[in-house]
Amino acid sequence: MQFENNLAFAQQLDTADPLKNFRNDFIIPEKEGKQQIYFLGNSLGLQPKFANEYIRRIMQDWASLGVESFLHATEPWMNYHDLLVKPLSTIVGALPHEVVVMNQLTVNLHLMLVSFYRPSQKRFKIICEAKAFPSDQYMFETHVKHHNYDPDESIIEVAPRQGEHILRTEDIVSVIDKHGEETALVLFSGINYYTGQFFDIPAITQAANRNGAMTGFDLAHAAGNVELQLHNWDIDFACWCSYKYLNAGPGAIGGVFIHEKHHDKNLPRFAGWWGYDQLTRFKMEKGFKAMPGAEGWQLSTPAMFLYAAHRASLEIAEKAGWENINQKRKLLTAYLWFVLDEVNKFQKNPIIEFITPRNENEHGCQVSMNMLQRGKEIYNALMDEGFFVDWREPSVIRLAPVPLYNTFEEVWRFGDTLKGILE
Ligand SMILES: *Cc1c(COP(=O)(O)O)cnc(C)c1O
Repeated sequence: MQFENNLAFAQQLDTADPLKNFRNDFIIPEKEGKQQIYFLGNSLGLQPKFANEYIRRIMQDWASLGVESFLHATEPWMNYHDLLVKPLSTIVGALPHEVVVMNQLTVNLHLMLVSFYRPSQKRFKIICEAKAFPSDQYMFETHVKHHNYDPDESIIEVAPRQGEHILRTEDIVSVIDKHGEETALVLFSGINYYTGQFFDIPAITQAANRNGAMTGFDLAHAAGNVELQLHNWDIDFACWCSYKYLNAGPGAIGGVFIHEKHHDKNLPRFAGWWGYDQLTRFKMEKGFKAMPGAEGWQLSTPAMFLYAAHRASLEIAEKAGWENINQKRKLLTAYLWFVLDEVNKFQKNPIIEFITPRNENEHGCQVSMNMLQRGKEIYNALMDEGFFVDWREPSVIRLAPVPLYNTFEEVWRFGDTLKGILE
């Protein structure tokens, strides 16, 4: 499509957008009665209007039926988890019994490492990206120490080449091949939180598989953002949070994928009663017997309020259609890149260096811009103009237009405002 950098054209794209009405299912932040332009869905997705209602129903059941709600509420709490797993498994490309909704991201990563990081004298290394999200770094470090290995020797970080910002797949693969026989686990993010780079998950997984290592992915910035095929890609496990692109609210309940090939192996794990075989759970007997599938990793009584909030967001995605959401995402981000290029092009000295890879298959919603001059000042001016974007020291502005609630007009306005600020 031939894009144009003007308001009328952007509005035309909005008019033609089959998903345009889903914006009304979210509460858009306002200031003095004016809707703000929210490009921070990569940090905390907006609130679905229906979240309130679903949480209210749990409150209501609790009030009128107490604990009987587990079996006798209109929507029994005992089965509420099933309402989440179906739409979620579509989004991450998994079979429903490979997905479980529980805990939060960092906790789930730790639980998965208990099962999938089983170091031996010969195979003890973890391969990951340099500058992984801090939680991931601390997780690697503490698991390695827990098994009495030395983090400096055991954690192999793949860094960008000198003068580059993003990782080349060939470099990741060659590090995996180099350390292959000593590698117990390869764990990358799906999309790097800082650069917005969408890694080549199938290539990383194939390299790990042929070297006999386990593969896990932290999909915090990928789940609900880009198309994933976790089952077909044959990865061993993945974890994600649900408050970013899945719009399930602050501290939302996390998600985990465990490939079905591991379900019947009785893998070591840290267990709790909610992961115990459902049919005999309430006999309260000694000796842990796992539920079949990913649910066998659950620990605790379900967090009903968190389930309820998550359900609201998943229903919107289900109604909109995951394929349609992805189509709009691609068009919306392509328009953003076009508009930003138009801004950059007319500066005497280019002011934006794009860190995020430009290729459509290597990014999701997010664009990370390294500001070559006056970064903080530009960020502050954008915030003053009603744009929610994100600042990372020393000079990076991140923004993420989200297909379910952002518009082409907002993207155009962003470019227009940025141009004004630079002038
Ligand atoms: C957001 C994010 C987290 C946050 O973990 P929580 O346990 O939800 O606080 C972890 N890892 C990555 C890669 C993230 O982007």
